[in-house]
Amino acid sequence: MTGENLVLTNCMVYSARQTQHMQQDIYISNGRIVDTRPTHAREVDLKGAFVYSGFVDSHAHLLGTGMVRGSVDLSDARTLEHVELALKHSAPVIIARGWDDSKLSFVPNRAMIDRITDKPAILYRRCGHAAVVNSEAIKRFSLEDLEGVDGSAMKIGLLCERALNALGSRISLARSELKAFIDLGIKEFTSNGITTVHSDDMKGNNDELLVELLAEQRQIRIFEKVRTETLEDIKLFDLAKDNSNNYFVAGALKVYLDGSLGARTAALIEPYSDDPMNCGMLYMDSEQLATIVEAAENKSVQVCAHTIGDRSMEVALNGLARISPGNPFKHRLIHVQTASNIQLVEMKRLDLRASIQPLFYYSDMDIAEQRLGKERLASAYPFKAMEELGIRLSLSSDAPVESTSVFDNLLAADQFFSRANSIRYYTVEGKDLEGRLRYGEIGPGYPADIAVAPVNLLEATREELANAKILMTIVGGHIVFSS
Ligand SMILES: [Zn+2]
Repeated sequence: MTGENLVLTNCMVYSARQTQHMQQDIYISNGRIVDTRPTHAREVDLKGAFVYSGFVDSHAHLLGTGMVRGSVDLSDARTLEHVELALKHSAPVIIARGWDDSKLSFVPNRAMIDRITDKPAILYRRCGHAAVVNSEAIKRFSLEDLEGVDGSAMKIGLLCERALNALGSRISLARSELKAFIDLGIKEFTSNGITTVHSDDMKGNNDELLVELLAEQRQIRIFEKVRTETLEDIKLFDLAKDNSNNYFVAGALKVYLDGSLGARTAALIEPYSDDPMNCGMLYMDSEQLATIVEAAENKSVQVCAHTIGDRSMEVALNGLARISPGNPFKHRLIHVQTASNIQLVEMKRLDLRASIQPLFYYSDMDIAEQRLGKERLASAYPFKAMEELGIRLSLSSDAPVESTSVFDNLLAADQFFSRANSIRYYTVEGKDLEGRLRYGEIGPGYPADIAVAPVNLLEATREELANAKILMTIVGGHIVFSS
């Protein structure tokens, strides 16, 4: 699909390089922006709206976002009607969380859910240690043999404790179901102005089918970061690479060096302030990382290293110390939440890029001080320091962890950067990470990946941003979202 011929009129078009808006019409043909008005074009009057090169979320999880979008929240359900209404969801397999029998004054059971839906349905209790399922789920995931496991009772559809682990490993999705979750994920991003997502989806139950579905969609550009623990996993990268096209690109090997601050698994040099015997966990040492980096460079592919703690930062810098001069493959660090100034200087020396999440600064605020203590907190989330050192940055949401909304992410970035810089980190810099130079602007020859906003993003007040909604999103000359 190359998209239709389009003429967008009455646009205030933003140039990230000139940091200004200009009133002009935009001509689109064959999925690209062109300089002359195409014939047989459909005209769309944008009524003075503000037009940006499509935003790039440089680190997120597309499928994971779709699965969260497709799951049902029962935490506020108080009556059977509430449960019935919630379970009438478009998701192909109903995964619901949060029911509480003290709020409901009854315990849901198999027969009750059978009357509500004939799709497989799994309703997790608030605590996550018990769930009830319907007959379709028992049949679909072959759960009969779990009878009696830790108190599980199939007659009423009750699963407890270890039976739930077994259930988790048996859930595999049919093509149409996986596609439905991918579509929900895509919609979540495109309806928020994101036209490219650097996504980490693979190493699950059915990677071949997943890659096929990600590669056949034409709604969003996906730069896939393939989760890599050992050199064996490079086969997965090759699988994705064999399926790459203009909309789906196997772009990087993604390595996890540590966990998160919240779970106290981020690897710190000094112990956690609220857990003095614990320095977190390292998932890989610098030698293992160096082996993957070498394999990546031999394949001319980028390494993305997840690092949250300053001890994993050390591993990242040592493991990446021997990269080619100038970092031509654009290896990058994702997160970088605690790092010393010496480490940041080394990061700059190696020319490493970064994908950062300004929204984490706000969501972590409560726990970060407990985990790190006042002194370490003062130098944590060093995004401004990175900018001042000249480290090249790109913005991201880590969705489903944080909001995919362009407006929410720009608001959070205000804490660290000028609006003009934030927009650049959210467009041009994200595309540059992919090695795509003719992206990130609106001009002749550029792909027609466009987001239309109701407000001037350079000048909008915090309140205007907080209330704004994307008006239209175009990918490859095709209108994929319109409000
Ligand atoms: Zn992530």
